[in-house]
Amino acid sequence: MTENDLLASIPDQLFIGGTWRAAAEGKTLDVKDPSTGKVIKQIADATPADARAAMDAAADAQAAWAATPARERSDLLRRAFDLLRERRDEFALLMTLEMGKPLAEAQGEVTYGAEFLRWFSEEAVRVAGRYGSNPEGTGQMIVSQRPVGPCYFITPWNFPLAMATRKIAPALAAGCTVVVKPAALTPLTTLHFVKLLEEVGLPAGVVNVLTTSTSGAVSEPILSDSRLRKLSFTGSTPVGVALLKQAADGVLRTSMELGGNAPFIVFDDADLDKAVDGAIAAKFRNIGQACTAANRFIVHESLAEEFARRVTERVNGFKVGRGTEDGVIIGPLIDDRAVAKAKQLVDDAVSRGASVLTGGQPIEGDGTFFQPTVVTGVVAGSEILREEIFANDTEYGLVSYVFTENLARGQRLIESLDTGMMGLNVGVISNAAAPFGGVKQSGLGREGGAEGIHEFLSTKYTMTPNPFK
Ligand code: NAP
Repeated sequence: MTENDLLASIPDQLFIGGTWRAAAEGKTLDVKDPSTGKVIKQIADATPADARAAMDAAADAQAAWAATPARERSDLLRRAFDLLRERRDEFALLMTLEMGKPLAEAQGEVTYGAEFLRWFSEEAVRVAGRYGSNPEGTGQMIVSQRPVGPCYFITPWNFPLAMATRKIAPALAAGCTVVVKPAALTPLTTLHFVKLLEEVGLPAGVVNVLTTSTSGAVSEPILSDSRLRKLSFTGSTPVGVALLKQAADGVLRTSMELGGNAPFIVFDDADLDKAVDGAIAAKFRNIGQACTAANRFIVHESLAEEFARRVTERVNGFKVGRGTEDGVIIGPLIDDRAVAKAKQLVDDAVSRGASVLTGGQPIEGDGTFFQPTVVTGVVAGSEILREEIFANDTEYGLVSYVFTENLARGQRLIESLDTGMMGLNVGVISNAAAPFGGVKQSGLGREGGAEGIHEFLSTKYTMTPNPFK
């Protein structure tokens, strides 16, 4: 499929109550390709009135969806998995166009994102309760799990598909209805995905999509609606904190997948080949724009120089360009602000004594490109050590990476590093079967794994008398 055919096939309207419709005031927003700066599609720009309609649709559909047999919900997710896998290349191209990541990485994201559909189609039919007598023997206790209720999802631009499926799949599996609001920078993938859900038989109102340039104003009527029961957000820590405050009024269940500032620690007993491979994967995946991106490399002095030399050699070999071109490893950053931020962080580090081994500058011309960069000798206190490079926050406890061949040292670090996740001798950790999530300012709750569906279930406990007394 050509780029133009694909873009023409993407819906440009909101999806509310099972129908595609224009925004209330007919407003539109532009979606750009960050590798060219050109507008690739105009889509509906939702207003608060649209948000109220979407909330109504999700609330109206909730009871019937919760009553739909788990097997049927599971089968719908499985059909969605099969179709998404079949259409991998089409979804990958769309993500490359709106977000900039190289095609091979976009294909990887489709595979990863689709796995949540398969995983939660399997989990949907395994939600269990328990039944047993109380310790005193006077009664029988029944513990069951019920869907939380209508959910609101806010997703970021860096993984347009996977961050949506990681929330939508467990919610549907649990029997919850959804309103989802993708980032204004990358809304097309969610629209295309929901069209796919429609094709595999999604009932009206079960998933509703709002695309908007005014995320705060559009979110407000949903967050203040007493029918909403759950907020799940992936994005930066400051926005997550503000949303938690809004969610407090409704005593909403919340899941927060927030920023990271991952340390990457290489001990003197590390296997340097593994550490260099891990560093490249952990740092440059997704053009450096992942919450799991390694932000601080802490390398034992006996290896530091050789590690930096080998990483620099690999980075110098990267092809930078539009993600659709063959062999491109590094696409554009998401926008001008991201380029300015990268420049400012490098300049700050250099002004305090760091050295740039390669890169360090924006690339002139179309699109928002920045040279892949290696900086060494970064002095404590430099902004680059404290700030998540591609987002506006400081943090945290999402993930850490440790390279050591010493088992006991590795085990000590598993126990002592205060992060929700760890890569021990690996630079990539994401998997649908894993409970993804952070501690401290990196968030609340887990997505994926056996834990993922419980974010969308609430426990009901019932006491009954002992039938024999
Ligand atoms: P962001 O600026 O916080 O935006 C995230 C989402 O929130 C977008 O949909 C955005 O919409 C929306 N938003 C912004 N302000 C809002 C408001 N006042 N009310 C309601 N919604 C609002 O973050 P980002 O720059 O897109 O994403 C990068 C961040 O996400 C990084 O910090 C990264 O670490 C984090 N992230 C975390 C994970 C994880 O699993 N822990 C995964 C991926 C990314 P608009 O952009 O349209 O305003």
